[in-house]
Amino acid sequence: MKTIGLLGGMSWESTLDYYRQINEGIKTRLGGLHSARLVLYSVDFAPIEDSMRRGDWDGAGAHLAEAARRVEAGGADFLLICTNTLHRVADAVAAAVSIPLLHIADAAAEALVEDGKKKAGLLGTAFTMEQDFYKGRLAERHGLEVIVPGAADRQRVHEIIFQELCLGQVRPDSKEVFLRIVADLAAEGAEAVILGCTEIGMLIGPADTPVALYDTTRLHAAKAVDWALA
Ligand code: GLU
Repeated sequence: MKTIGLLGGMSWESTLDYYRQINEGIKTRLGGLHSARLVLYSVDFAPIEDSMRRGDWDGAGAHLAEAARRVEAGGADFLLICTNTLHRVADAVAAAVSIPLLHIADAAAEALVEDGKKKAGLLGTAFTMEQDFYKGRLAERHGLEVIVPGAADRQRVHEIIFQELCLGQVRPDSKEVFLRIVADLAAEGAEAVILGCTEIGMLIGPADTPVALYDTTRLHAAKAVDWALA
């Protein structure tokens, strides 16, 4: 079994899900007392969030590049950045280490393509929904057509992520907002909705809607298990 490297803490609420899901995946595949070999470096999210808000992506990238070097020094064979948004600086992180990076958008897109989906809605932070680093990769590398909610809904989704989910708050009214937006995206022709923020799975899941949901935390963790056992 290979050693999985996790760059976590963004937020730590979703890193908990990674840790649990990766270990459950290894246990399902190997049985008994098997558990994942992994190295986790969990950052203090506050200064990184501050860099993102100020648009200082070079600063965020340098911070995460240093953290990634620590994960590699801890013995990891490959690396996951446990957030969608910070894949904005994935190139800087990948360049700082010699181990491969398992990109979260590829893990999500491969599942969609395997299921024959061509047009998907995307929910995530405003950075993820509005900038090209994520949507562009889905389109250019995987041939997916991606749609996002309108400006007011993007703002609401972004606020719920940072002001509630990243602080561990799961509110029924926010769940209703997300489910309404998921239904709107499906009405606009999305065959599936990508939960492109690692905390959204805390709020909604497949039991809540008939629309096919692709939870990036779950798909990224599952792909890490595949790589670890390959
Ligand atoms: N974890 C979230 C994501 O997947 C949002 C918080 C962050 O910016 O890292 O994008």
